[in-house]
Amino acid sequence: MKLKPVEKQPSIKPAGSSRTMTADGKPEKGKTAFRVTFLGTADGHTSAKREHSGIIIETGKENLLLDCGAAAARYFLDKKIPADFIDVLWISHMHSDHNGQISALIQSLWLRQRRKPLQVFGPAMVLDAVKDWLERSLLFPELIGFPIEWRAVKPGRPYTHGSFRFTPFATEHLDNLASYFKAAYPGTCFECYGMTFEYEGKRYVYSADLAHPRELIPVLKGRKTAALLCELTHFPERDLFRELAPFDIESIWITHYPDRLESQEKQLKKIATEEKFRGSIHVVQDKVAQAI
Ligand SMILES: [Zn+2]
Repeated sequence: MKLKPVEKQPSIKPAGSSRTMTADGKPEKGKTAFRVTFLGTADGHTSAKREHSGIIIETGKENLLLDCGAAAARYFLDKKIPADFIDVLWISHMHSDHNGQISALIQSLWLRQRRKPLQVFGPAMVLDAVKDWLERSLLFPELIGFPIEWRAVKPGRPYTHGSFRFTPFATEHLDNLASYFKAAYPGTCFECYGMTFEYEGKRYVYSADLAHPRELIPVLKGRKTAALLCELTHFPERDLFRELAPFDIESIWITHYPDRLESQEKQLKKIATEEKFRGSIHVVQDKVAQAI
């Protein structure tokens, strides 16, 4: 299905300002640092304790949601976060642990009377699929009361939204699957995009899903990375730190990891030291806000 421009809606004053609340439901005081809340840190396997992917980034100016495999709608309601809070949704790829909760989120924003436009960024075919799914889920643009602006992105091409600059990069996460199934399923998107984003002179990287950490080398080369938000499930832990060691990475935030790693943070740090990785290492937990 081809993308159509979102119809202009009458301008309606937002019901509530997103800038008075932080993602853990606390009132914001003055200037907000770069804060990240991992809604879900589980990998593609169902975890009894942790949710699938979803990362909130907030700066006080804009709020981003990277992937929506976690029950974001329930989290926002629970923390009394206004329906207008998220400015940008980034969808990396079509696996359900990264996008399975999008329609539930949109339904919730509709029923909570969101009015602010929502920018949705991702690979073009992912956006086509999600747009189609929302229509099939009875979440029509004319019904929901806020415009969704579909922003198809291309690897290597920078995009600006507010004070953020994003540059997507393609990973090889789905290449193997594509080699078996793409010919039979040409309407399915086998792209997966991570992204670098720049904010106030600092550079951050979201790995999305990878086939191997060597796919991060082109985006880490030649510049300091303040924080790498990185998956750790599709390759051995040692490979990650071996590939990252030559680069200037201030901190790595491990997410999308299997249950067994929950109790192995010490061993992970030992491996990182053995491989001469110099940045700080954080194995993150669900729903804990972090200033990074
Ligand atoms: Zn995946």
